[in-house]
Amino acid sequence: MKNIPLLDLQAQLATIRGEVLTAVEKVLDSGQYIMGPEVKAFEEEVANYVGVKHAVGVGNGTDALLLALDAAGIGAGDEVITTPFTFFATSEVVSRLGATPVFVDIDPKTYNIDVDQIKAKINEKTKAIIPVHIFGQPANMDEIMELAEKHNLFVLEDAAQAMGSEYKGRKIGSLGHAATYSFFPTKNLGGYGDGGMVVTNDDELASKIRILRVHGSNPKYYHSVLGYNSRLDAIQAAILRIKLRHLDDWNNARRQKAALYNELLKDTPLVTPYAAEDRKHIYHLYIVQAEDRDDLMAYLKEKGISTGVYYPVPLHRQKVYESLGYGEGSIPNAEYMAKRTFALPLYAELSDETIHAIVDTIKTYYNK
Ligand SMILES: *Cc1c(COP(=O)(O)O)cnc(C)c1O
Repeated sequence: MKNIPLLDLQAQLATIRGEVLTAVEKVLDSGQYIMGPEVKAFEEEVANYVGVKHAVGVGNGTDALLLALDAAGIGAGDEVITTPFTFFATSEVVSRLGATPVFVDIDPKTYNIDVDQIKAKINEKTKAIIPVHIFGQPANMDEIMELAEKHNLFVLEDAAQAMGSEYKGRKIGSLGHAATYSFFPTKNLGGYGDGGMVVTNDDELASKIRILRVHGSNPKYYHSVLGYNSRLDAIQAAILRIKLRHLDDWNNARRQKAALYNELLKDTPLVTPYAAEDRKHIYHLYIVQAEDRDDLMAYLKEKGISTGVYYPVPLHRQKVYESLGYGEGSIPNAEYMAKRTFALPLYAELSDETIHAIVDTIKTYYNK
C-alpha cells in the first residue's frame, strides 16, 4: 500500500491549480499587496456565507481571537471560561491580554465544552465564554447564549475548525457575539500561508477590530489606541476567494467519507465520532478513540498510514499554566480523551478504496 497522509494538500491543489495561479498573478499585477480589493471582496463573501453583517480579515486565527477579545474589552482581572480540549491559541490570547482562562470539562461524546460546567464557574470576574467548535462539530450554542445573556457575558466562538458547520440550520459563526476563523493551510478553508478572520453582527465591535488591525489608527497615522499589525494578506485573500467557492463541496465530501468510516468501523473496538442530530459536523478531523491508542498508531505508521493526536496535553495541564493550579485529574474527561483519541486520514480527495484499506489494516491489528 502507498503511504497515506493524514491530509493531502497537494491533491486539493491539483484540482484548483489554474484558478489559484491566475488569482495570484492578478494580485501581483495589481500592485495592491496590503488590504485592497481582494481583501474587501473576500470579507464580503465570508460575511454573506456565514450570514453576518461584518467580516474583518486579520493575520491569522490566533490574532482573530486576540483582537476580538481586546475589542470586547477583556483584560487584566477578567476571567474567561473555555475548554482545555483545544489548540493552545484559544487560551493563549486570554492570558496575553492579562486575563485568566478558566478551564472547564468537556462532554465526552461531542468533545465540546460542557455547559453545566460553565455554570459552576461563573462569578463576578467572569467576562466571556469561548466555546470551540472542536473538530468541526458545533458546541451547544443555544444553552451557552442563554447563560451568557443571563450573566451579561461576551461569547466568542472559536470556529477555526468549523467553517461551514451548522447548528439547527444556522451557520456556525453567526450564533455568538463574534466568531473567529483561521485560514491556516490545514483548516477546512485553508490558504497557502497564514490568515484569519473575525465575523460579527456588532457594528461597534467590527469597527474597533478594523482599527486594532492597523496599529490602532484611524485615519492612518492618527493613533487613538494601541493596536496590532495584523492584516489578511491580499494574495491569501485572492486564493481564499477561490477556495470558498469549493468549501461546501469539500465539507460534504468529508461528511460522506466520515459516514463511510463510521459504517466500516462499526464492528471494531474503536469509538467513532458522535454527531448530534441537529448539527452539521464538517469533520475538520475524523477523531476516534482507542484503548491501546499509541500501539495502534505505531502499527498504522508501520503500514504507511499517518495518524495524529489532537491534542496530547489538555491546556490546563500545560507547563505554562502550572501556576493556575489544575492538578492531574482536575478535569477528568479532557484528560481521559487526550490519552485515547486520535485522527485518521480524512480529506475531500481521499478515495473510498483507501478508506477501505485503512479500515482493513485496523481490523488486521485487532485480529492479529
Ligand atoms: C488553528 C486554530 C487556532 C489558531 O489559528 P492560527 O491561524 O493557526 O493562528 C485557534 N483555535 C483553534 C481551535 C484552532 O484549531
